[in-house]
Amino acid sequence: MNILFFGPNGSGKGTQGSILKDKYNTPHIESGAIFRENIGKGTELGAKAKAFIDKGDLVPDEITIPMILDRLQQDDCKNGWLLDGFPRNKTQAIKLDESLKASGMALDIVVEILLDRETAKNRIMGRRLCAKDPNHPNNIYIDAIKPTDDNKCRVCGGELSARGDDQDESAISKRHGIYYDADTGTLAAAYYFRDLAAASSDIKYIELDGTPGVKEVTAELVSKL
Ligand code: AMP
Repeated sequence: MNILFFGPNGSGKGTQGSILKDKYNTPHIESGAIFRENIGKGTELGAKAKAFIDKGDLVPDEITIPMILDRLQQDDCKNGWLLDGFPRNKTQAIKLDESLKASGMALDIVVEILLDRETAKNRIMGRRLCAKDPNHPNNIYIDAIKPTDDNKCRVCGGELSARGDDQDESAISKRHGIYYDADTGTLAAAYYFRDLAAASSDIKYIELDGTPGVKEVTAELVSKL
C-alpha cells in the first residue's frame, strides 16, 4: 500500500500516520524527521537544512526533492510506503507524480486531514518529542496522548522535549501560511493529487475531519480506507 498523507502541522498527521504504518507494516517516511535526524547527527544535509527549519521556511526543493525521491527507491519501500510531510508545494507534487510514474510505482491512497488554523497552532505548541522514538505521540493539550504525570513519554517512558520550531509563533504562522496556500503551497499539492484521484479509480482520496480526538479520527480513517 502506497499512501500520501496531508494535514496542517498540528493536525495529528504524524499520529495517524504511525497508526497506518503499523496497520500496513510500511516504512513511515517523514521528511521533517529525516531532517531532524540529520541535524542531530551533524551531517552536511542537516547543516544545510537547519537554518530554513528554524525560521519555519521550507528547505529548498533542490535538497528536499532528491532526498525523498531517493528514499522511495530504497528496498524497504518495495512493498509499500507512507509518505508524510512531502510534497509540501506544487513543484514537489509534480516531481513526485513524475517519479512514481517513471518508476512504475502506484499511488493507492491519499489522506487529507482538515483542521482550522487556530486549533492546529495550539496543538503544535503542546507537542512533545520522545528522545527514544519520534513516532511516539505525546501532547500536553490532548488528553488521549498526554505524557505521564512526571512528564515522560506515555509509550516508553523516554525523555520528552519540545521542538524549538514548535514554540515559535512566527515560525508556526509561516509554516501554516505555506500549508494553507492552495495556489502553490501544500494544499495545492494535495489538490493536485485530489484531481488525479478524481480522474482515476486506482487512487482513493480520503478527507478526514481532524477536530475530534485521536481515537475518533483513527476510527473515521480506518472506516474510510
Ligand atoms: P515537519 O516535521 O513536517 O513539521 O517539518 C519540519 C520542517 O522541516 C519544516 O518546517 C520544513 O522546514 C522542513 N520540511 C519538512 N518537509 C519538507 C518538505 N517536503 N519540503 C521542504 N521542507 C520540508
